[in-house]
Amino acid sequence: MRKEILRAEKLNTLGELAASIAHEIRNPLTVVKGFLQMMHKQEKGDNFYYLSLVLTELGRAESIINDYLNFAKPQFEKLEDAELADIISEVTILLEAFAAKEGVQVNVRLEWGVFAKTDRNQLKQALVNIIKNAIEATDDGGEVIISQAAVGNESYIVVSDNGKGMDSAQIARLGTLFYTTKDKGTGLGTSVSIKIIEAMGGTISFKSERGVGTEVTIILPSFKTYSNKGQNPVELGAEMK
Ligand code: ADP
Ligand code: MG
Repeated sequence: MRKEILRAEKLNTLGELAASIAHEIRNPLTVVKGFLQMMHKQEKGDNFYYLSLVLTELGRAESIINDYLNFAKPQFEKLEDAELADIISEVTILLEAFAAKEGVQVNVRLEWGVFAKTDRNQLKQALVNIIKNAIEATDDGGEVIISQAAVGNESYIVVSDNGKGMDSAQIARLGTLFYTTKDKGTGLGTSVSIKIIEAMGGTISFKSERGVGTEVTIILPSFKTYSNKGQNPVELGAEMK
């Protein structure tokens, strides 16, 4: 028992150290990016291509750092009554082009008039990470289904895909920082999502089978009230292509 507590403290200190380094690296990166963007704009010659590449890689470094910082300490800046169906719609639109490029169909079933008190940007981030993984795991012609419905004062958001799935050893590693099986993966998305959902007082669980697909279930505290989107009280089965 005592050993476990010490280990937790150690991890915490390491995490804090990493966060402060990440934070310190972000500032000079931002400055470098600013100058490079300026040069990129003015460049008419051969270097245009190289500067584009450098900016893309810099953007990647920046998003890794931001994800890590968000993981170390999720910032819930503005708490508001966020309509879950609205947030999911926004996220789906955001990922529409990506899904189309991958040849994956995303279908959505929403219940309007259900709200959570939260920072909507954080919830969006958590969902983007999970849904993006579902799309990435699915082959051309596959399908991702997102359904959201309230039961009492809890809301279920289920993201399921018929992609490659995971075995139990892989599921056990989910939420471990930097665990990835992708060439260009960062292994941060799932960890960040778990952290955000838990900070919201919710839970997230993963069910998966290799070659069959994955189902991610997020349960969030929520309440029902009048929908300001005019789709009140309940509209089920809204499909999105
Ligand atoms: P990344 O996407 O950068 O690899 P994540 O933390 O988002 O990092 O995911 C970690 C790993 O978990 C992925 O590399 C993948 O192996 C596995 N994974 C996550 N979601 C799914 C899913 N829906 N289907 C199959 N594997 C998944
Ligand atoms: Mg991911």
